[in-house]
Amino acid sequence: MPFLPDSVINDLKDLLGPKGWSTDLDVLAPHNAEARGKFKGQAELILFPASTDEVARAVAICAKHNIAIVPQGGNTGRCGGAVATSKQVLLNLKRMNKVIEIDERDFTATVEAGAILQTIQEACAKHDLLFPLSLGAEGTCQIGGNLATNAGGLNVIRYGNARELCLGLEVVLPDGSIWNGLSKLRKDNTGYDLRDLFIGAEGTLGIITKATLKLFAQPKHIATAWLAVPSPDCAIDILALARRHSGDGIAAFELMSGFAHDMSVTYLKGLTRPLATKTDWHVLIELTSSRPDDDLQTLLVDLLGNAVEIGLATDATIAQSEKQRANLWAIREGIPDAQGFEGGSIKHDVSVPVSKVPDLLVRGIAAAKALIPGIRPCPFGHVGDGNIHFNFSQPVDMEKSKYLARWESLNSVIHDIVADLGGSISAEHGIGQLKRDELAHYASDEKMKLLRAIKTAIDPDDRFNPGKVV
Ligand code: FAD
Repeated sequence: MPFLPDSVINDLKDLLGPKGWSTDLDVLAPHNAEARGKFKGQAELILFPASTDEVARAVAICAKHNIAIVPQGGNTGRCGGAVATSKQVLLNLKRMNKVIEIDERDFTATVEAGAILQTIQEACAKHDLLFPLSLGAEGTCQIGGNLATNAGGLNVIRYGNARELCLGLEVVLPDGSIWNGLSKLRKDNTGYDLRDLFIGAEGTLGIITKATLKLFAQPKHIATAWLAVPSPDCAIDILALARRHSGDGIAAFELMSGFAHDMSVTYLKGLTRPLATKTDWHVLIELTSSRPDDDLQTLLVDLLGNAVEIGLATDATIAQSEKQRANLWAIREGIPDAQGFEGGSIKHDVSVPVSKVPDLLVRGIAAAKALIPGIRPCPFGHVGDGNIHFNFSQPVDMEKSKYLARWESLNSVIHDIVADLGGSISAEHGIGQLKRDELAHYASDEKMKLLRAIKTAIDPDDRFNPGKVV
């Protein structure tokens, strides 16, 4: 039974109605689950408010009794941020899922925070407009969760992170009051940027209830290619070449190790190898344009020809149909699932300046192999943003390995190299509880002081998502 006094539960029940709460273990189970199985949610009460007013009033009831709340979206986060203890209340936004307005003159969409990312993309497409945030979990994650984690994904090189795609927010604060910052303004220099404070705060400062998002013209042309490249250095040179060659046409630029590619095409059903050539590194590049007369296929043929001619790529192919394009993306997006077939893994979502990606990979792979002989590096990621998912699969005979004890220490080995290269230990997944101690370790004292001061100013009683981020 929940730890809350009956009177408080009754107040919440009266406020939210029968669909607005649950203590049923079957209902709670998926909300207490955490994808990586690293953290075990233990919430005994979950709230499903249906409006901003209900969120605000539920928060006020909890505030009165000093009860902590963990906001939750689609629960696809990678850092244990949406996991609650038995003494905390989960507040899930899934009933607040409306696309409220798509404004074709302001190029904006105003949505409730529980709207699924894919629903927003599809609603915008019906107006021939693009909401460009795109990531593997888009069929499940909610825009509130995307903003709370400042999600990145596949198109950051062209359109930016969730932060760059948001114009305004409505947020419920820890005392139950509502900050209405639901603005469509593209310029607003009136003091500190409160919107940007709540974006990326992972629910530790406020509960995002609505957002106004930036929209773009839908691409009229898409051209997608797969390249075999000799090294990450060559990939970065191709990226620079493509930037000069295509103006701002690059929508995605992904790098994958040979091992990552091989796992995807081996373990996932129905995928076809794009190239016969065996190679240590692969690149997926996608160009898009909303100009009706652009000829991206010719542009890409020229670009790839040039890359092969000067030795930056050894082979390349361009998707000739939507089916072929889908195959290329499925190989890339299937890597995390495919890696599961190769036993235990350890993952690092890191970023460095784009030009330093080769250094990171060379140094990181060498250090990992020195620490754990037989370890199998599986890096891939949004290299156009300097963001590598620096994953490793355990050695084939890991269970017998005398190096088992060193497995967890790989984190600090990789993160030390990232820090040395001026990078970030969390590129796009956030901090949650997974990296809270590492944030404190790698951030400067000044930064930690400011982060804690902000938390204390907005949530002095530590009632929103305690134990996460700071
Ligand atoms: P949740 O997991 O529910 O919550 C995440 C955090 O946000 C928690 O701290 C929670 O308390 C807080 N939160 C949730 N909703 C709110 C709200 N309304 N107000 C305040 N705080 C809130 N991430 C990327 O950045 N790029 C990727 O390419 C990417 N690919 C992924 C692929 C897969 C297959 C999966 C499973 C995940 C991927 N992720 C990626 C991670 C994840 O999808 C994102 O972090 C996503 O933005 C989380 O959204 P969510 O609704 O699931 O949030």
